Amino acid sequence: TGSAFFETAGASRLTVLAGPTAVGKGTVAAAIRAHYPEVWISVSATTRPPRPGEVLGTHYWFVDDAEFDHMVETGELLEWAVVHGVHRYGTPRRAVLEALEAGRPALLEIDLQGARQVRDTMPEAMFVFLAPPHWDELVRRLVGRGTESAEEQARRLDTARRELAAEREFDVTIVNTDVPTAAAELVSLMYSHTTAPEA
Ligand code: 5GP
Repeated sequence: TGSAFFETAGASRLTVLAGPTAVGKGTVAAAIRAHYPEVWISVSATTRPPRPGEVLGTHYWFVDDAEFDHMVETGELLEWAVVHGVHRYGTPRRAVLEALEAGRPALLEIDLQGARQVRDTMPEAMFVFLAPPHWDELVRRLVGRGTESAEEQARRLDTARRELAAEREFDVTIVNTDVPTAAAELVSLMYSHTTAPEA
């Protein structure tokens, strides 16, 4: 594996994975969490309540509005956004900087608004757009997840439609035809975009 490489590489490059709603960003991130433990994945703070099976500190830091306000006010977040018009999500800054300092390949899985903020503050990051193979497939996944109300699904589709148009803002696109392949492609990109240590 490449973990020894990263341990010696010094400060590494941040990778930002974004893309339309329900394209499978979370699933790709989960596959990376399971199969590429050398990759550090940011754990976001969110005001959304946990879904069944979600673990505090693994999937998200679940916080209330007052806690989120505090994180915003004290500048603890690298970026944050209201996603799908309801809940707030944000990336704790310090953990990201520590992972990069430690030379670990670091990944953020965030929405497009967040990716734009990171592009302003950390333009050296690599911005990866995860694209659906087909729009129909995206709709099927969104509806098939079955965890959101019809109203919430409609709201997310509207977001997705706008997000699909954002591909051109990104450095590279990965088409999420199947999750293990997309995960492998992303990790391989992360490796190839980390500066090799001096010989
Ligand atoms: P979900 O509620 O399904 O876990 O996530 C909803 C959306 O929030 C996804 O598109 C995900 O990429 C986005 N998201 C998760 N964490 C963050 C974050 O820290 N910042 C931003 N801007 N978006 C996030």
